[in-house]
Amino acid sequence: MKPYISVAIDGPAGAGKSTIARRVASELGYLYVDTGAIYRTVGYHMSLMGIGPKDTDGIRRCLDDVNIEIRYGEDGLQHMMLNGSDVTDQIRTPEMSAMASGVAAQSCVRDYLLEMQRALAKTNNVVMDGRDIGTVVLPDAPVKIYLTASEGVRADRRFKELTAKGENVRYEDIYTDIVKRDQQDMNRPIAPLRCAKDAVVVDSSYLSIDQVVAEIKAIIRKKAEA
Ligand code: C5P
Repeated sequence: MKPYISVAIDGPAGAGKSTIARRVASELGYLYVDTGAIYRTVGYHMSLMGIGPKDTDGIRRCLDDVNIEIRYGEDGLQHMMLNGSDVTDQIRTPEMSAMASGVAAQSCVRDYLLEMQRALAKTNNVVMDGRDIGTVVLPDAPVKIYLTASEGVRADRRFKELTAKGENVRYEDIYTDIVKRDQQDMNRPIAPLRCAKDAVVVDSSYLSIDQVVAEIKAIIRKKAEA
């Protein structure tokens, strides 16, 4: 039997990973896994429990009560279930972005989520996006992409996304949040955001979504034929 193919897409916040990864997965018939949503769900649980992102003991204690499930709705979207409730919308706020980045620096959280992510890739062709997919979660993935864009472009995209949803946000705050979150994700001691040695770098700053999707599909095709 042919082994399952994994496409790992890593990169900084707001580089368009989820939009691109979802499109590539849908066009290839692969499963799309947004691992950031999993960290956000853990962060959301901790905030409900009143536990701060630096409270290692509290987080470790509370992890036993976290039951996370990923469900794929008829809309094709990845729904995050936390202890039986759908929290897909609640995890998308700027506060939960910061909370996710905070809890993601805790080794107990990363250990807890590692097998869950690997199990999905063992039983499906996947396009998985995150920060450490090509370096830690799926180091043997045959296709690794590091998707990036300039800070200004990424902040601009995130600002448009949130205002389109009717959120009252300031561009300056979004920009600062993105820069701060990248610094935190790149400089943490465990599983920092890095470009894997064997990853192909795609800079989406001046490319349309269609162009990035086409470029990544071409990379996958080339690797699959190699
Ligand atoms: O991708 P997204 O912005 O939703 O991720 C939220 C946070 O989750 C990131 O800032 C990062 O700290 C963390 N994360 C991670 N490893 C992953 C995916 C996300 O540490 N594979």
